Amino acid sequence: MSQRVCHSPAVTEVIRQLDSHTIGKISAGEVVERPSSVAKELIENALDAGATRIQVTVEGGGLQRIEVSDNGGGIAPDQIMLALSRHATSKLSMFEDLDHLTTLGFRGEALPSIAAVSRLMLRTLEPGAAVGTEATVEFGSRPGVSTSAGSYGTTVSVRDLFGNVPARRKFLRRPSTESAAISRVVEAYALGRPGVAFNLTIDGRKVVATSGSGRDLDAVVAVHGSDAGNAFLALAEPEGAARVEGVDLSGWICAPAVNKSTRQGILFFVNSRWIQNRSLTYALEEAFHSLLMVGRHPLAAI
Ligand code: ADP
Ligand code: MG
Repeated sequence: MSQRVCHSPAVTEVIRQLDSHTIGKISAGEVVERPSSVAKELIENALDAGATRIQVTVEGGGLQRIEVSDNGGGIAPDQIMLALSRHATSKLSMFEDLDHLTTLGFRGEALPSIAAVSRLMLRTLEPGAAVGTEATVEFGSRPGVSTSAGSYGTTVSVRDLFGNVPARRKFLRRPSTESAAISRVVEAYALGRPGVAFNLTIDGRKVVATSGSGRDLDAVVAVHGSDAGNAFLALAEPEGAARVEGVDLSGWICAPAVNKSTRQGILFFVNSRWIQNRSLTYALEEAFHSLLMVGRHPLAAI
């Protein structure tokens, strides 16, 4: 389809440097598409910080509040301002590091992007430290920083998401749909990281609670229920299977008796990073072909 290009001299006449507020809002649009993107970024930060317990609290589809609380390594007081600045990260220092990245984050964009389009509060205390820090940002304002007490780890609370970008709000779905998308993110990470205890509360209701025992089966029962637990099959690479150099495969599937009406139960992780890939999903569904009724989909994490 051909696109009509509108040449308006009024728009091309002057080149201007955008102000930092506008830049912030535009780049926020790339990182924060919807409430579940906020949940994903904050959970990934908690995991990168070595958390073994992560509590996610959601109100009003995530537009009223998304809060992620962890017991990870926290942030030193003198690093808070950096954590909230664009392109500031503790996980990458040179381009070459990208080749052997072991963290989920590395761009240093999530916190400032989220803070550009919400009222963000970050409270953090490093294990062993006497005082912690609390920082607040209102829709991209300069952070207000004070000392705080509390338990070790980090809590990030995001309120009034997209409150300053009404156009964005219009594209969001019903709160229940946005909440469901957040559940999917939490469930994916709960299944991908069975060694971490995840809790998800949506509008006061406990939706997910995993033990963090480190056993896949326990996470499957917690997320998908005991029927799924009974159908659980750990994957093993068959003897003499053609192997791809440098690739190890592990995970589990549920026997076909337990299945879903959506593909939401199909999860893939590469180096612990949750990825969504049509070809992989298709390959898995093909393997179940003729074992499942049309319109039914398997449960798996690979
Ligand atoms: P990135 O994850 O790409 O580094 P972010 O904007 O998500 O960028 O976070 C910026 C920095 O803030 C991180 O590199 C990390 O040092 C620190 N940080 C963010 N969240 C947490 C957390 N929950 N616990 C400890 N440190 C954190
Ligand atoms: Mg991050």
